Parts: sequence; C-alpha cells; structure tokens
Amino acid sequence: MFDADKIADELCEFVRIDSLSGHELNMAQLLSQRLEGLGLPTHFDDAHRPIDGEVGNLWSKIEGTGPGLPTLMLNAHMDTVKPGCGIEPIREGDTIRSGGDTILGGDDKAGIAIIFAVVRELLETKPPHGDIHIVFTIAEEVGLFGAKHMDYDSFRADCALVLDGGREPGTITTAAPSALRLGYDITGKAAHSGVKPEEGVSAIQAAAKGIAKMKLGRIDAETTANIGIISGGQARNIIPPDCRVEGEARSHDPEKLDAQARHMRDCLQQACDEIGATLEVEKISSYRAFALPDDHPLVSVATDAAHELGFEPKAERGGGGSDANIYNEHGIPAIILPTGSADPHTLKESVSVRSLGRCADYLLAVIAELQH
Ligand SMILES: [Zn+2]
Repeated sequence: MFDADKIADELCEFVRIDSLSGHELNMAQLLSQRLEGLGLPTHFDDAHRPIDGEVGNLWSKIEGTGPGLPTLMLNAHMDTVKPGCGIEPIREGDTIRSGGDTILGGDDKAGIAIIFAVVRELLETKPPHGDIHIVFTIAEEVGLFGAKHMDYDSFRADCALVLDGGREPGTITTAAPSALRLGYDITGKAAHSGVKPEEGVSAIQAAAKGIAKMKLGRIDAETTANIGIISGGQARNIIPPDCRVEGEARSHDPEKLDAQARHMRDCLQQACDEIGATLEVEKISSYRAFALPDDHPLVSVATDAAHELGFEPKAERGGGGSDANIYNEHGIPAIILPTGSADPHTLKESVSVRSLGRCADYLLAVIAELQH
C-alpha cells in the first residue's frame, strides 16, 4: 500500500510549477533532477523543435531485472492547459483543488506523481520486470506533439501504460476517437454598409447561415462536433469580406467522422452559394482512433490486476485524444490508466488523495501482472 499523503505532497509541489504547453522547461528540469537523484540517467529528445517549445520529452529507464520479460513504457504528460499559471493547490480532507481561478493541473501531474511513487517502489523492492522506459511528454494538450515527434526507432516497448485517466482505480480506457481539425475561410465582398450595401457580400452572414444549419454537439454515441472559434469583419460600417470559422469533429468510427465533416462543409457551402460568397476548407487529421478489444492481452492484464486488488475492472471508451492514440498508431499497444483526477480542464478540477494512493497500487499491480 502506498502512502497517499506522500504522493499528494509531491503532486502539490508539481502543480506549483507553471508548465503550459510548450513551456515545460522548469518542470522537466525538476523531474530530471529527481530521476537522477534516484540513480536513473535521463535525457531529452528533440520533440520540441517542430513546435518551437522550450524542451523535448524527458526520458529515463529502469533496466530490466531479468531477461525475456516484456518491455514497458510508462508515460504521463508534463504540460497543462490554461488558465494554469500560479496554481495554488488547496487540500481539504481527501480533496485537492485549486484556489478557484486556475485549473489544478492534476491532468496530468497526478499521473507523474503516481509514476514517481511506483518507480521508487520498483527500485526499492526490485520485483522481476523487463526494461521500463519512463517518458514524460510535452505539448500533449495542444495536439499530442511530444508523442507525435518521438523517434520511434530509438526505443522498443511491447506496450505502454499512459497515466492520464480519471478517478476510479480499475477503470481502463481502451479506446479513443479519431479527430479532425476543421477550418473554413469564407470570402465575400466588402462594401460601405450605409452607402452601397447592395454591392457587398457578407462573409459573416454566410457563416451564420451555414452554422445555423449544422448538427453540432453530440451527434451519436460515437461522434461529436463543435464550432469553437469564429472571427471576421473589419468595421461596423463595412460589409465583412471575410470570416474564419474553426471547429472539430471526433468519432470512434472513421466513416461517421467523414460524414460529419462532409455535412459541416455542405452546410457552409450551401450558405455561401445562396449569397454569393466562396468557401475554402481546411481539414487536418489530429489523431486516429484506437480500440483494444476486451480480450487483448494488455486489457486482460489490467482487468486481472483490478480483480486482484478488489477494484471493479471497467473498460471504457474515452471521448478525447491522448498520447495513447499516437502510441497505438505506432504499433505500441497502449491503455490509459486512472490517476485519481476529476473534472480536468475546468476550474473545478480536483484530485482525491485516497484515489491517488489506490491508483498507484493499481499501476504497480498492472506492472506485476504484465510479467506473468
Ligand atoms: Zn491529460
């Protein structure tokens, strides 16, 4: 059994260090020193270069204790979302939350704190295990860039455990959707709105008409869509010649994802045609879906480990992308394990101290079960 208070103290220390996406240097340096202090050599990769970040992914390794055992990757991400500067964690009984004007950053520093607890335990008790790569990634929240820009030829892992899940120990996230980033540039025609409105074509009106017709939000059990940003226009008295609309769509089913993207484009195209504007569409794949079946060896291992500790095993489909999408895309089976966190990306975000300890117990049990 882990000392949950100790993990909580380290979590509070971690969340006090600002580490917005692309600005992970201070956090990375602290983690690197701490790993070196445990006798584990560390190094950084170049994953920050393409995104102009401060520092790359932080790597370390616990050498395997015996030959022929599976190699494992333990992963959590170092970056947090906004508002995430000057976080002051507050502990009330079992709950850790922020002062209320920032997120807490338990996503994903609870994952990092749990990994540290388990790494110390492994170093102390030396149970049988294969090589364990410890990887703390950058820029997960803004596009999984740390995972995307790893050198996959530089290491070998039979599977990955991504500590970036919710509260309940025993919950295993075994699937996540594909996501598309969608951008629409609408071009109309400028004109003085009071003198010659007949000569103008309003790009904003075209956007509004198109968006009004779109099915958005939850489309079905597997699919969601959102328009998140709209910008355009020049002045109150100018018919707006341009408008940019940005959104996204996600689905566990690639065909449904395509259909939703087509639907959104068609709505805008029709609106543009009606008033004489033109449309340019940008469609970028953010990440691809994955789904490990319930009888996948990695899922079975995590299920057995939950049973062993008396937790209710629950395989869940996640609604968002994570580094696990990228590992699965690169042929490393990856599941997401819980971290004791709830309400990530909100000012209400919290971590349960008791769950932190139980999630560490759970991670250690999964690692042990993997060796059988
Ligand atoms: Zn996360």
